[in-house]
Amino acid sequence: MRPTGALHLGHYHGALKNWVRLQSEMECYYFVADWHALTTHYESREVIEKNVYEMVIDWLAAGLDPQQCTIFLQSRLPEHAELFTLLAMGTPLGWLERVPTYKDQQEKLKDKDLATYGFLGYPLLQAADILIYKAKYVPVGEDQASHVELTREAARRFNHLYGREIDAEARIQASLAKLPKDSAKRFEKSRKAFQETGDAKAQEGALGYIAQAPELDAQDRERLEGYFKGTGKIILPEPQALLTEASRLPGLDGAKMSKSYNNAIAIREEKSSLEHKVRRMPTDPARVKRTDAGNPERCPVWEFHKVYSNEATRQWVTQGCKSAGIGCLECKQPVIDGILAEQQPMLARAEPYIANPKIVREIVDAGTERARVTARETMREVREAMGLNY
Ligand code: SF4
Repeated sequence: MRPTGALHLGHYHGALKNWVRLQSEMECYYFVADWHALTTHYESREVIEKNVYEMVIDWLAAGLDPQQCTIFLQSRLPEHAELFTLLAMGTPLGWLERVPTYKDQQEKLKDKDLATYGFLGYPLLQAADILIYKAKYVPVGEDQASHVELTREAARRFNHLYGREIDAEARIQASLAKLPKDSAKRFEKSRKAFQETGDAKAQEGALGYIAQAPELDAQDRERLEGYFKGTGKIILPEPQALLTEASRLPGLDGAKMSKSYNNAIAIREEKSSLEHKVRRMPTDPARVKRTDAGNPERCPVWEFHKVYSNEATRQWVTQGCKSAGIGCLECKQPVIDGILAEQQPMLARAEPYIANPKIVREIVDAGTERARVTARETMREVREAMGLNY
C-alpha cells in the first residue's frame, strides 16, 4: 500500500479487512510501498515521509498483528530494486505500455507529469516486490489483476531465459549417460512423443522411471524432468491473484472514496468531523423539502446503510424515505452510529502506538529484517541463474 495519505474507510472495507482475515490463514507480507508512492509523488517527498508510520498505525488499528504477519518498509530492502533492474533487462516495453492503469492514471492525474521511466516501470517494480517472496497469492482488487498478470509474464520469461543451465545440453547428455543405454533411448522416445503429441502416458512412464532410477541424483532428476517437459527450472514461481470479496464503500458523494476527491472519512477521523461530514452528505436530489418522497437507490447515504445497518434499519430507511416519513438527518444517524461503533476498537488499538511511536518503528524494523532473509535468498538464486556469481 502506498503511503500517500491517511487511510480511509474505503481502504478498510476494500482491502484491510481482508488483510486482517488472511493473516491467520496464511503467511502474509504487507509492506509500505514508499518507492511506489514516489512514482507519482516524486516532487512531494514530505507527503510520503509524513505518512509512512501513520499508515502502519492505521494497519495496526485495523487489526494487523505483527506476531501473525510480516510488516515492512520497501525502501529498506534494496533487493527489491535489484530484482526490478534485472527483470527490466528482458521485459519488452510493450508489456508495460499496455497495462490498462498506465494510460488511465496519466489521464486521471493530469496535474502531474507522469511521462517518466519510473511511472512506466512501476508494474514491473510490483512484479519484483511479489516475486522476491515467491508469493503464491496476491490479494488485489479487480483493477489490479492486470498487474498480477504482468508479474506472471515476467516470472515466466525469467524462468524461460535463465531457468536453463549455461551448458544445459552437455549436462543433460551427462545425466542421460548415467542411465543404461536402452533406458536412455526409451526416455528420448517418450520425450519426443510427449512434446509432439502431449502423450500423457509417455510422460507418466518416463517421469516415473527417472524418479526411481538409482543411477541418478536429485539434480539429474530435476534436469531431466525439465528437459522432458521442455521447461526450465522454476526460479521465480508464478503467483495467482487472490480476488477476495470486498464490501465496497463509496465516498461521501457516491463516487470512489479518495482523499483527492475530498469525499473520504479517515479510519481514525475525529468524532465531530465525522458527524459533520455525514450530516453534510448529499442525498436523493428529488428530496428538496422534508415532505418530498425520495428513493434510497438514488442516494449515496443508502450505500453506507448497506455496509453499516442491519435489515430492520434498512427497511425503516426504505419505507421512511419513500413515504417522506423520516428526514435525511434522521436517516443518517444510524450510519454515524455504525461508523463510530466500528471505529471504537480501532481507536483503542491505535492508542498505545500513538502514545509511543517508537514501538511502531520497532515493528517495522523487525518485519523488515524478517523479509530480508527471504529476499536475500531469492536474490542469491536469481544471481546464480543469471550467471552473476563470478
Ligand atoms: S431519507 Fe435517507 S435514503 Fe432517503 S434521501 Fe434522505 S438520506 Fe437518502
